[in-house]
Amino acid sequence: KRILSSRGTRSVLENISKFKESATLKKLSKLENNRIERRRRNAEVKAEKDEICRKNQNTPHWELLAMIDQYRSSIKICPLSYNDFIEDHLITVAVRKRPLNNFDLLKKEIDIITIPNKNQLIVHEPKYKVDLTKYLDNHVFTFDYTFNETCSNHIVYKYTAQPLIKTIFEGGYATCFAYGQTGSGKTYLMSGCPDNAKEKGIYALTAADIFKEANSEKHRDLKLEISCSFFEIYVKKVSDLLNGKQTLRILEDGRQQVQVVGLTEKTVSSVNEVLHLIKIGNEERASGQTSANVNSSRSHAVFQICLRSKRNPKKIHGKFSLIDLAGNERGADTFFSSKITKMEGSEINQSLLTLKECIRALGRKGAHLPFRGSKLTQVLRDSFIGANNKTCMIAMVSPGVGSCENSLNTLRYADRVKELGGVEVQGN
Ligand code: ADP
Ligand code: MG
Repeated sequence: KRILSSRGTRSVLENISKFKESATLKKLSKLENNRIERRRRNAEVKAEKDEICRKNQNTPHWELLAMIDQYRSSIKICPLSYNDFIEDHLITVAVRKRPLNNFDLLKKEIDIITIPNKNQLIVHEPKYKVDLTKYLDNHVFTFDYTFNETCSNHIVYKYTAQPLIKTIFEGGYATCFAYGQTGSGKTYLMSGCPDNAKEKGIYALTAADIFKEANSEKHRDLKLEISCSFFEIYVKKVSDLLNGKQTLRILEDGRQQVQVVGLTEKTVSSVNEVLHLIKIGNEERASGQTSANVNSSRSHAVFQICLRSKRNPKKIHGKFSLIDLAGNERGADTFFSSKITKMEGSEINQSLLTLKECIRALGRKGAHLPFRGSKLTQVLRDSFIGANNKTCMIAMVSPGVGSCENSLNTLRYADRVKELGGVEVQGN
């Protein structure tokens, strides 16, 4: 009573109750705000889901897409970055996945390839259980490098062909192969993007670095002359792409030295000159065909950059061979190639199998080199022998589900090339 009668205390109590009221109001308004935010987020999630459903209605593979999405969200994705370490390998095997292109989108293709990190790749193969429910068979592959669809030609180059430039200045032979099915991006990688001059290919990038190295203080005194040749191997026929597709003969002397007789070798002194030769060669390659991809997808294109000392031009100082291989698909009808004839198919098959054996022989010093097994390996013989030689193979894969079988074949082939590549890494 005494307390309540005191005026001062009453006002304190009034203040306390006011404070309590305002704290409650604050709590209420916070709750209300949370509710509004929750509703907004729910609406957003629902809109996202509706959008996925709407898209999926147009995708025949929506079930597969959902399974792959779920798989991807359950793993950590940490792709190669521009500053990752460049390893020194005798044989480098890498894989590049190209993005889905307009042609794929027209076919409502979905991307079944995931690149979780800088050296792994997963193919999500759709399969059916006995009760016909769909499931994913996830094939995991490991290579020296794996490049996802956002990687430019330059990044692929940086980790594959560029480290081999040193080899040719040290007197060795370097080779770089683009392997894969037709339409997987081999020519895009080697020759560059046809619609974007900035996206240069490995031919031009390699040439630019060779010019830079040749003019560097370290190599200037070698007085090297740089020349290019460009030829095509179709079944057993070798044609000069810098000389109107003139047929060339391959000769082997008593010391097993192989020569491509009459091959044009153009001396070059700038990247622009090289780009010009690439353009001429590629036009020649495509000429006389109803579609630019018909015969060219069944032939191997070999672009070579040769270093010779001006003091002794007969002797090769070093050579870089860059090869856009024939499509490895077998007998299939594709958008790009009509049915491959039996003869073409078996010839391509034979040359790719021999190539694999020759690369493996490079890794096992002193091993038998079956280079006579195909024209391609015959002309590249010098690249597979000698202690200073290095090779890289870039296996190219298309991302679509329609290419699943071909992609698995490509990856299995690349895997076998690498089997031994891993043993003798850190070449001299
Ligand atoms: P291949 O030589 O293996 O038959 P191409 O290089 O002709 O394949 O590529 C097939 C199509 O895909 C071309 O239209 C090409 O421009 C496109 N393409 C290939 N790789 C890429 C890439 N990394 N980025 C964008 N488009 C690409
Ligand atoms: Mg091509």
